[in-house]
Amino acid sequence: MHVPRSVGMGIGFFAVAAALYPSQPHVWVWTLLVLHGFGWPHLAYLLAKSSKQPYKAERRNLIYDSLAGGLWAGAMGFNPLPTVAALSMMAMNNIAAGGPRLFLWGVLAQTLGALAAYGIFLPELFPTITQIQVYACLPMLAIYPMAIGWLSYRVALQLSESKKTLEKLSTTDSLTGLMNHGAWKDLLRVEFNHCQAHRRHDSVALIDIDHFKTINDTYGHIIGDNVLKQLSTVLSANLRETDLAGRYGGDEFCVILPDTTLAQATDILERLRRTVYDHAHTALPDIRLSLSIGIAAYGPHLTDAGMWLHEADMALYAAKSTGRNRVNAALPGEKVYGALSAAFD
Ligand code: GH3
Ligand code: MG
Repeated sequence: MHVPRSVGMGIGFFAVAAALYPSQPHVWVWTLLVLHGFGWPHLAYLLAKSSKQPYKAERRNLIYDSLAGGLWAGAMGFNPLPTVAALSMMAMNNIAAGGPRLFLWGVLAQTLGALAAYGIFLPELFPTITQIQVYACLPMLAIYPMAIGWLSYRVALQLSESKKTLEKLSTTDSLTGLMNHGAWKDLLRVEFNHCQAHRRHDSVALIDIDHFKTINDTYGHIIGDNVLKQLSTVLSANLRETDLAGRYGGDEFCVILPDTTLAQATDILERLRRTVYDHAHTALPDIRLSLSIGIAAYGPHLTDAGMWLHEADMALYAAKSTGRNRVNAALPGEKVYGALSAAFD
């Protein structure tokens, strides 16, 4: 609130000063008005900044603003134009910052302030407005709403940035930086619908590390995590830009290969399997990392994305049960056919 409060109090000073001037107030009233107009916004800022709960401190400051607004309204004898302009601007602040609750607290503070000041000063009630008083109120009426508009715009921008960050976090696997299970499955559904609508032939692959539990048990979970991270890097580096890789969960990864036949997908994933097998994993100098991979291509026999994934899962299961370290493709509509590529390394 520092900038809008500084702007509001600064220009509000002239509106109140013009309204008080005809009653020739005492010098302490002028001093208070100057301090309030030009000192309070900075003091309020320091109070909020040094508070453990800045938001609560600012709410309190807004109540003080309202109380002071009421005091000046009472001191002016409720001169209609500056009174309505100042109190309504403060009410706008309070609604924007704290909704109806803060608004009602603000109204209460304004009322108390107004009654107290009226009791102290006993000014002429509802004095006639002079031309100068009208002009002194115009900057507040014109400029302050702009300051609040600017503040709202900045808050909206910050919210949209936070929303983007949260969206990214909610769709990303924190360990590997790949898409997480939920995000990848959402994409699979989208790709399935594309394939159905445009007769496209995507393939989907499930990739599981062989004997990963042994790696965890032998080298510890931190090394296990490093292996998962390294594999995700190798995966991203060896797939095409259009391929959509994710972490399905645990030591299992998943890839959608758009516009890719079963034979093409098998070539790509076989290359990947060999690369991983030949790659010297810094965390695992003594062992080779092998992958079992199941692939399924889209076909018109598939009724939904779940069935497609199930075919890839069955192909992976067959790769595991026929010796691991291999790529296995599911024949459309059939259960699974034998290993397309076995490891002879
Ligand atoms: P298989 O060849 O049959 O796949 O054997 P496996 O040992 O790899 O067995 P499985 O895939 O069932 O085991 C996966 C293991 O991965 C079990 C779990 O402890 C481990 N794991 C799951 N998530 C993480 C993780 O985020 N970090 C680490 N370090 N380990 C994980
Ligand atoms: Mg495994």
